[in-house]
Amino acid sequence: GKVLVSGANGFVATWCVQTFLDAGFSVRGTVRNAIKGKHLKRFFASYGDKFELVVVPDITAPGAFDEAVRGIDAIAHTASPFHLAADDPADLSGPAVQGTIGILESARTYGQTVKRIVITSSAVAVTTPKNGPLDEYDWNNSAVQAVADSGANAGNFDKYCNSKVLAERGAWEFLDKHKTEVGWDIAVLNPPLILGPVIHDVSTPDELNTSTKMMFNAFTTESPTTGGGQWANVKDVGRAHLLAVMTELPSYVPLSAVNKKEGRNVNRFIIGGQGFTWQDMRTFDAAPPSATQYKQGFPTSINTTMRPRDMDNSRSQEVLGMEYTSIHETVEETLADYERRGWIK
Ligand code: NDP
Repeated sequence: GKVLVSGANGFVATWCVQTFLDAGFSVRGTVRNAIKGKHLKRFFASYGDKFELVVVPDITAPGAFDEAVRGIDAIAHTASPFHLAADDPADLSGPAVQGTIGILESARTYGQTVKRIVITSSAVAVTTPKNGPLDEYDWNNSAVQAVADSGANAGNFDKYCNSKVLAERGAWEFLDKHKTEVGWDIAVLNPPLILGPVIHDVSTPDELNTSTKMMFNAFTTESPTTGGGQWANVKDVGRAHLLAVMTELPSYVPLSAVNKKEGRNVNRFIIGGQGFTWQDMRTFDAAPPSATQYKQGFPTSINTTMRPRDMDNSRSQEVLGMEYTSIHETVEETLADYERRGWIK
């Protein structure tokens, strides 16, 4: 089979491409321009014509993916802005929503061979202030409300969350509307902060994507690193995309049923989701006697009550068969990558 991966040059997407290729799929990646594809061409050269690139200059343009979806069996739509520096919330929600609806519209019209569309949503589309574990029935409505109320004055993180909620909800609404016309269904992945080694085109820490830059900064900072959240391993997320393409899923359930919590029959999957603090990660890595300051961090600055709660990822294990890499292994592997690049000693 052949999988279309949008935004193929991204941190997560490059791992998705690697995972699909290793599983025997052919991959067509989309990039905004040819220069963004250069590293990928080199990196995946050994897969020969199993890997190809197409340029989609503007994912918000009508019909942007019309050519790209032809002859494709499954789609992994990862392209979406992830940064925390937008002034206008539409700088994020525009490409997030129009990119998602656009690829679905192209698949509806020209994707006769498409069977499954996997959408890289985020745990930030799920998280709510409610007590208890978060699961796939939760929606981050408060971020949407914050942006509706405050526009450009809303918090930068809320603006990003808003874009992911609107894009994901738009996808479910699209499927509700067009289910009888299309030969495909949708699986949505909701990973929190994704961490791990990088294989996309990065040569300095400054060029890291938003999530791994947070980790790099947390490990190299000289003040207590008590912040945190929930995390997922990037290779696990790549594998989740593969499993979401390959797994037979429960039959279609409308968005209204998701919202009403009817059954567990929802093709929405929290991936990873263990609570962490940055100090936890630094402590894990501080193997005496060689522990340096940057590795140790500030162990006394954190206690277990400060650790954010876990999300409930049992659905991903039961339905997709996900297995998870430990936080310890993830930290070791990521730091080894940074050491190899000469970014830390
Ligand atoms: P990256 O920034 O590494 O990659 C983002 C990809 O999306 C790039 O290919 C980028 O293209 C493309 N993109 C961004 N904005 C636009 C735009 N306006 N028009 C066209 N393409 C665009 O981010 P990640 O790999 O971290 O993120 C990939 C996906 O995973 C996103 O959907 C993100 O929301 C989601 N996600 C990420 C998490 C994380 O912690 N990293 C957590 C949960 C979800 P270009 O290089 O040309 O800008």
